[in-house]
Amino acid sequence: MNLAGNLVRSARAFPDRPAVRLHETVLTYRELDRRVAGVTGLLAGREVRPGDRIAVMLPNVPEFAVVYYAILRAGAVVVPMNPLLKEREVAYYLGDSQARMIFAGAACAGAANAGAARAGIDCTIVEAGFGAALPVPRELGVCDRDPFDTGVILYTSGTTGQPKGAELTHANLATNVEVAARDLFRLGPDDVIFGGLPLFHSFGQTCGLNAAISAGACLTLVPRFVPDIVLDVLARDRVTVFEGVPTMYVALLGAAGAVAGRPRYDALRVCVSGGAALPVEVLHGFERTFDCIILEGYGLSETSPVASFNQPDRPRKPGSIGTPIRGVEIRVVDDTGADVPPGAVGEIAIRGHNVMKGYWRRPDATEEAIPDGWFRSGDLARADDEGYLFIVDRKKELIIRGGYNVYPREIEEVLYEHPAVLEAAVVGIPDAALGEEVGAAVVLRPGVTESVESLQAYVKSQVAAYKYPRRIWLLDALPKGPTGKILKREISLPAAVE
Ligand code: AMP
Repeated sequence: MNLAGNLVRSARAFPDRPAVRLHETVLTYRELDRRVAGVTGLLAGREVRPGDRIAVMLPNVPEFAVVYYAILRAGAVVVPMNPLLKEREVAYYLGDSQARMIFAGAACAGAANAGAARAGIDCTIVEAGFGAALPVPRELGVCDRDPFDTGVILYTSGTTGQPKGAELTHANLATNVEVAARDLFRLGPDDVIFGGLPLFHSFGQTCGLNAAISAGACLTLVPRFVPDIVLDVLARDRVTVFEGVPTMYVALLGAAGAVAGRPRYDALRVCVSGGAALPVEVLHGFERTFDCIILEGYGLSETSPVASFNQPDRPRKPGSIGTPIRGVEIRVVDDTGADVPPGAVGEIAIRGHNVMKGYWRRPDATEEAIPDGWFRSGDLARADDEGYLFIVDRKKELIIRGGYNVYPREIEEVLYEHPAVLEAAVVGIPDAALGEEVGAAVVLRPGVTESVESLQAYVKSQVAAYKYPRRIWLLDALPKGPTGKILKREISLPAAVE
């Protein structure tokens, strides 16, 4: 078994169809497969062995697909890295994964070369067209791997400390890709998937790149999420499947509202949201404007990533992350690992084909994360009587104000309902008397004015008195991670603007 077998199959079945596209550059399945074979030959020439770790530091360009599938095809392990990492971070990832070599985009050559020098390994710079001129070795097959051999090591911060490498096996990845492509997105070779989620991250990798390749569909890449460009791409390529994190939906909604005579996105068949909670108000607004349906799912790097989804053959529930996907079980448990009563809040625990083998060279962290065969997600949720799961919040983002639990997500949902609010993040702030106090950072819609007092009064009218934010800050923007998730811990709250 090898995840790279999917490309060989699609190249046989759909040689002339587009596999990956970046604006005017289109690689057909035949051409992608040819370049992958060329780079696999290059790896063989450098004596890369099955199981060797090879780092990839590339933005969303077609060469990402070429290098990724070549490494897998050689039986080696892909270690994807954020192209924005700096030298010391690069050195950390390379050292921790004990990588043999790194492929890096020209734009990150500085940090990649310096990091590779520190780690004492070779750095190959990848220019546009990489692999096109390499000879295709004869008799080059796909290296057969055991299903439980690692295919990709995805670095994730988890809950604490330095980033750890989640080891995902060929079976983890191939099964999750298969379920996502067939059951959830129902992909076929006529589909065009929007490729704006970073490919170094699990969501973009499984649901974008690998799902597209398995179905013979086209992935249309956008290296930087600029809403106006994204809207052009959706119309130009007649995108059928849009995948994004909630901040992308917020940004597109804002941009679409501003475009007069906006083209219709009538090819759009389904939109998928994950990675963070999608405020219900945003879901409804987007569906109205784009005349489409959004299905929300949930997962983590450690679960390949998809664990639950609002599945197309069941009623969808806005605000819910749906039900466990085929081959995955989810329980809601307390700190002892026992099931909480129906409807009560507990931690999501996951078991199934998608759960990682463990953290790379971190047996203690693995034992802590999977103590009894069930992976502890660190996310709090409750299930309704039909088994639909509703995320309440991250375990570590829970605010405890004077002994009362305040779930930031609940307050954020209320803020998003306010017409002046574009984005909101609710955080705990240290308080001598109460332990923690509830604070909110809010970005207003462009051109709108609204006072802190009236926002506060609004939330106060909607929720129990202990929950409303005692402090609200109006900011120009919220800090975001590489996938567009709001980074609450990096919000700097200027006390003076209170
Ligand atoms: P990552 O490992 O970077 O993919 O992050 C995984 C985390 O994203 C999960 O532990 C959740 O906290 C969060 N997450 C993913 N999907 C959702 C969702 N639909 N709703 C709320 N949080 C989500």
